[in-house]
Amino acid sequence: MPKKSLTNLSNSKNKNIDATSYAKFNEFNISDKTLISLSIMGFEEPTPIQKVVIPHALKGKDIIAQAQTGTGKTAAFGIPLIEMKPLLKVKNPYSVVLTPTRELAVQVSGEINKMGLKSGITSLPIYGGQSFELQMRSIKRGFDIVVATPGRLLDHIQRKTLSLEEVRAVVLDEADEMLNMGFIEDIEKILALIPTERQTMLFSATMPREIIEIAKSHMNKPLHFGVDASEMIVAKIKQVFYEIPEEDKIRALTRLLDVEGPSATLVFCHTKREVDEVAGKLQQMGYPAGAIHGDFTQSHRDDMMRRFKSGDLDILVATDVAARGLDIPDVSHVFNYSIPQDPEGYIHRIGRTGRAGKSGIAITFVTPRQYRQLRLIEQAAKTQIKKAKLPTRDQVRKAKENELAKIFDDVIQEGKHDRFVTFAQVLLQKYAPSDVISAALSMLIDIEDINEIESIEPAMEVGQKTNFVRLFMTIGKKDKIKVGDIVKSISAEAGIPARKIGNIALYDKFSFVEIPTNLADGVIHAINDSIMRGRKVSVQVAKKKKEN
Ligand code: ADP
Ligand code: MG
Repeated sequence: MPKKSLTNLSNSKNKNIDATSYAKFNEFNISDKTLISLSIMGFEEPTPIQKVVIPHALKGKDIIAQAQTGTGKTAAFGIPLIEMKPLLKVKNPYSVVLTPTRELAVQVSGEINKMGLKSGITSLPIYGGQSFELQMRSIKRGFDIVVATPGRLLDHIQRKTLSLEEVRAVVLDEADEMLNMGFIEDIEKILALIPTERQTMLFSATMPREIIEIAKSHMNKPLHFGVDASEMIVAKIKQVFYEIPEEDKIRALTRLLDVEGPSATLVFCHTKREVDEVAGKLQQMGYPAGAIHGDFTQSHRDDMMRRFKSGDLDILVATDVAARGLDIPDVSHVFNYSIPQDPEGYIHRIGRTGRAGKSGIAITFVTPRQYRQLRLIEQAAKTQIKKAKLPTRDQVRKAKENELAKIFDDVIQEGKHDRFVTFAQVLLQKYAPSDVISAALSMLIDIEDINEIESIEPAMEVGQKTNFVRLFMTIGKKDKIKVGDIVKSISAEAGIPARKIGNIALYDKFSFVEIPTNLADGVIHAINDSIMRGRKVSVQVAKKKKEN
């Protein structure tokens, strides 16, 4: 295949996008049966990636499509696969979809079965961990499209329990994830076993070099389509960040949950342990939270997803990997409890909200040290993440009161309080009405129990005393440095407003700078070993003066 078209891949992105050309599914060249199935599924109009991919996929072209999670990639290849069958005279499966995980295999297979409902096209998920015998029995019953994880599919091929000799179309779904999981060799083996007279389609959220290489060696003049992730985060998603020391994050999270009162919330953590910790603490504090990560059993994860979808759980705490590819419904809030690894991770996470024109809120927690990382993400993702201030205790109290007021409305309207009316009258003969109500409320809820977050209270703004730590810097008057230079470089490098910097004392060869305790780490990180006035400066916490 010609090299040129490959080097042009990224440039040619979007060039084929013409959102107006296929506004409805019935404008594609697809059968009525499929149209009916889609309408049963509740699909009204194609998503942007479906609009651009489907017409070319229907013509049998090889396709590389890049779009973030949740953009409808499954139907972008599923519909063309279903439409293929009547054109072929086959007995065995005519199409293979490879996916990175068993969850995804099950999900994609289920979705294809729905799309193929009226045309009678069936798909079978094949994945590791399930018994071979069971799978062989299902295979014998016959089906059209196999959706498999690479390892298990190879096993079946080697055992000759599954024939791919009539396969005419292959889809690599979540190709980048398969790459991350080390499936590349298996994929190459599988592709080598499938007749070359075939259509190959590759779907991926990102396009690392290795994926392009696969395309180069296994595809035939692929057309490249993309919905650029950064273009998809439109103004619909409000993005903010809070600078919060690690130890205060959980309290910041609950405070925000209290004030925002989100309906469905995803909380992303970096590690499985963190997921357990955060979900555990939220549960302890009475928040309806569930957790998913790779260590849980399949049935636990299914259960969590079911409860989250049904609204039984408001909060789902997850690792990136566990959430990847899962069909999670639109959520109102995404929390990056720990900062995502890279800009693409950021986009994937926050793309879970603000779907289908709805608005969404993405909240990122950064420790002072991570401030720079956040700015890099912001630049690379071509987005704006605004700094926000945590709601004050008063705002939390107000929010809780509003919530209570709503409950009062409900209870009184529905007459749920009737059985207490007589008793209330007895109390009212003895006390003032406001005392009775307040006493009853105080027995119910401890509204004063709003968590303290010392280090993140807006100390300066309310004129409270801030705790400072003194930093020792190996630069001084002899280096022709001025107080202003130090302020400038600290605020620029560490991203701290100048007003937050305390006293600065300049000596000949060194100086002392006071920094709010919670920001000190960030300043040391940013300034230590940096160059000021042409000199390398080292910074550390100053040794405490001896108490007199
Ligand atoms: P991706 O593979 O890009 O992550 P999916 O194919 O899993 O996305 O689709 C995400 C969700 O959107 C699924 O619930 C799917 O049923 C739904 N969906 C896909 N296409 C449409 C459409 N055209 N109209 C409405 N919902 C759709
Ligand atoms: Mg998908």
